[in-house]
Amino acid sequence: MIGLFAVTAAGRRAAAELAGRLGPEALVADGPIGPAVRRLWDHLDAAVFFLASGATIRLVAPLLRDERTDPGIVSVDEAQRFAIALTGGHDGAANALAEQVADVLDCAPVTTTAPETTGTTALDELVDQLDATVDGDLPACGGAILDGAPVLLVNPHGFPLPALPPNVGTEVVGPLWTVVIDDRRPTEQEERTLRLIPRTLVVGVGSARGVSRTAVTETIARLDSERGLDPRAIRAFATADLKAEEAGILDAVQDLGFWHSSDGGDELSLLTYSSEVLAGVAVPNPSEVVRREAGTPSVAEASALHAAAELAYGAPVELVADKIKGENVTVAAARIRPRGRLAIVGLGPGAPDLRTPRADAELRRASVVVGLDRHLDQIRHLLRPGTEERGTPLGADDARAVEAVELAERGRAVVLIGSGDAGVFAMASPALEKADVDIEVVGVPGVTAALSASALLGAPLGHDHALISLSDLHTPWEVIERRIRAAAESDLVVCFYNPRSRNLHWQLGRALEVLAEHRPATTPVGAVRQASRADQTVWCAPITEFDPADVDMLTTVVVGSSQSTVVGRRMVTPSGHRWMADDAG
Ligand code: SAH
Repeated sequence: MIGLFAVTAAGRRAAAELAGRLGPEALVADGPIGPAVRRLWDHLDAAVFFLASGATIRLVAPLLRDERTDPGIVSVDEAQRFAIALTGGHDGAANALAEQVADVLDCAPVTTTAPETTGTTALDELVDQLDATVDGDLPACGGAILDGAPVLLVNPHGFPLPALPPNVGTEVVGPLWTVVIDDRRPTEQEERTLRLIPRTLVVGVGSARGVSRTAVTETIARLDSERGLDPRAIRAFATADLKAEEAGILDAVQDLGFWHSSDGGDELSLLTYSSEVLAGVAVPNPSEVVRREAGTPSVAEASALHAAAELAYGAPVELVADKIKGENVTVAAARIRPRGRLAIVGLGPGAPDLRTPRADAELRRASVVVGLDRHLDQIRHLLRPGTEERGTPLGADDARAVEAVELAERGRAVVLIGSGDAGVFAMASPALEKADVDIEVVGVPGVTAALSASALLGAPLGHDHALISLSDLHTPWEVIERRIRAAAESDLVVCFYNPRSRNLHWQLGRALEVLAEHRPATTPVGAVRQASRADQTVWCAPITEFDPADVDMLTTVVVGSSQSTVVGRRMVTPSGHRWMADDAG
């Protein structure tokens, strides 16, 4: 949607004219401008303000989050002489809009970015996400992608990739540019090729005492010259504990870190392992001589493989260069292979500013997003164009969670979304029950309903508390009631999730009865419906007066402990430092 905002009569006339020309996507906002902008912000792909640029900046500044996802903002001055591209809009969208508006209003477009520096492009983000070193003309290749030129992507190791622009793909015919993601050197000179070198390699080094820095450096260089491995792909070095202070190795590692890290200053780490650990690693070229001297039949191969496995957190590793012998030194390299990626992302209670920036970043890494339809609706505008959506109506969520794992197992970049925190009474558990080490899993926490409700109610969670779901979908009522009773007896504050629906109408009343047996009649019960959403409602009543009929499935109910009180209409559970200290004394 393109929002058109105006305050003066002339502005409104121009907005109406522009809307007519921009088509059904354009909407002229009515009412006071500030609230209108805030209300529509999440739905905007772009916005035009018939307002001084200073006033426009003040209006939108508090709403800007991330240049990759913010709407493109254009301001048009009162005299309609200029259409100024101010900010936002992915891939130069604000510039394009300024040109379009200028065209319609017959005024001058003002853009202040060169096409190759419009901020972050899909390619920049890819480089970032892969943590890769770039070899080649990044701006030129990025420019070609923006221009819609065919770009071939070569990804032999199968890194999970985000949704890419439609002109970039693995089966493009007649490409103008080629982007290669690889830790190996090209075999021949390549024209118009951009190499992205991910840090996949771990180099193992073994040596005799007193080895020279030159000997180590030269032998490591043979990984490049003889085995075709790109030294910029080295993530770390490894050796035996006995060699942790070996000057020749330490100096060589420092040199390589200096020459090959992306900013010329990164230190590459040298990981060391005991002989016993290294002796336990199966290697292709064990040596009896080495075993007698070092207590392990392999240092270079074994330490490379072992360190790679340690850094891989379960990803598969392979020896890509078996032992190379130099002067008093041996070198080998192992590769950490990429895996499919499943990010489990909590979206928070609903308000966009209660969703974390990290959640947004993960959404932009996805090639496919899995979740409930209504949660997808919340974040669709953040997704890269071309991101596949697998939405589910309420109910079928467990099957969908399993599907998310299967997609990651096929090597894709998957995001599984849930409201609040995706791990709290949500899809993370059914997903991870089915997942194994063959996929990478990344969790992004979200503000769960208990926390958004508690912030609205006051400070009801100041002391020990429990979260209990009243849904008997997965848990028999006897078990739920037993847990409520235990919470009642131990005087915990209790937050009820899934408190009441048509099929779940008597449970909350029963739960409150059980709790009331163990706490005073004045115990406050707070409820929040639709926290942080448009029709948010917050209320509180003593436990004996609280009416479960006011509650529905969109509500979280927080029952105080015997210590909870109401102060200034806010629910407070004392944090209890004092009585804990008394107990201790
Ligand atoms: N993963 C979610 C909870 C899913 S269970 C989270 O961490 O918040 C669904 C229940 O969460 C609802 O029945 C309701 O009790 C609670 N809930 C979720 N969002 C809410 C909101 N915005 N306001 C109040 N309660 C909410």
